[in-house]
Amino acid sequence: MALTVTVLGCSGSYAAPGNPCTGYLVRSDSAAVLLDCGPGTLGPLQEAIDLAELSAVVLTHCHPDHWLELPVIRNVYIWFVPRDGVPVYGTAETRAMDRAITVLRSGRTDPLDWTVIEPASELTIGDQQWSFALTDHPVETLAPRVDAGGRSFAFSSDTGPGWDFRSLGDGINLAMCDASHGREHEDQGIPHMSARQAALAASAAGAERLVLTHLAPGCDPDAQLAEAEEVFAGDVDVARPGLVLTV
Ligand SMILES: [Zn+2]
Ligand SMILES: [Zn+2]
Repeated sequence: MALTVTVLGCSGSYAAPGNPCTGYLVRSDSAAVLLDCGPGTLGPLQEAIDLAELSAVVLTHCHPDHWLELPVIRNVYIWFVPRDGVPVYGTAETRAMDRAITVLRSGRTDPLDWTVIEPASELTIGDQQWSFALTDHPVETLAPRVDAGGRSFAFSSDTGPGWDFRSLGDGINLAMCDASHGREHEDQGIPHMSARQAALAASAAGAERLVLTHLAPGCDPDAQLAEAEEVFAGDVDVARPGLVLTV
């Protein structure tokens, strides 16, 4: 199986009608990894995969639009699809928040097996190699790069314009980048990129292909696309729920 990324939800900061917050399913020959699980992503996840088959969850940062489905996923694995040791990787801040809102019945162990990650972390999940870089965002935010089968996918997670894909190395086939707003909101200190800035961030690293994501509800995808195409020489697309990208 080729390395693929299925968009479960990609609405920036809060859900839009018909589009949950951030969540992607990263699949390859021997792994299916949930990358971020914003509110509302569990429904589309079940349309993409049997929950018994999920290999791991990777969470990029502690902002609620990127991980708050996790306690609900825990319900699944305690009560409905009983599993133990489902690997969860995320930042220390995210783990602390998850702990704060998790109350397990006495004697019951958590089906989720947490490992804290940091920028230098490297993970092997099935045939997927994961590495990370710290982005320009108010909390510790880890942009992941996934390599499998000779292909490479990189995701900016949330970031301001002080970051680009070069910190994830060369040879990125598909870059998915925060493009929360339009050019008119640049220079307002917003900790996210415009579509134009996303295109610059992908160009700097020589990425082959760019997908804009995390557009705030109400943004015009066509306008964002046009802004990015002015800067980025390769193919550009805008993420939408249900889109399956072959890396
Ligand atoms: Zn976000
Ligand atoms: Zn964020």
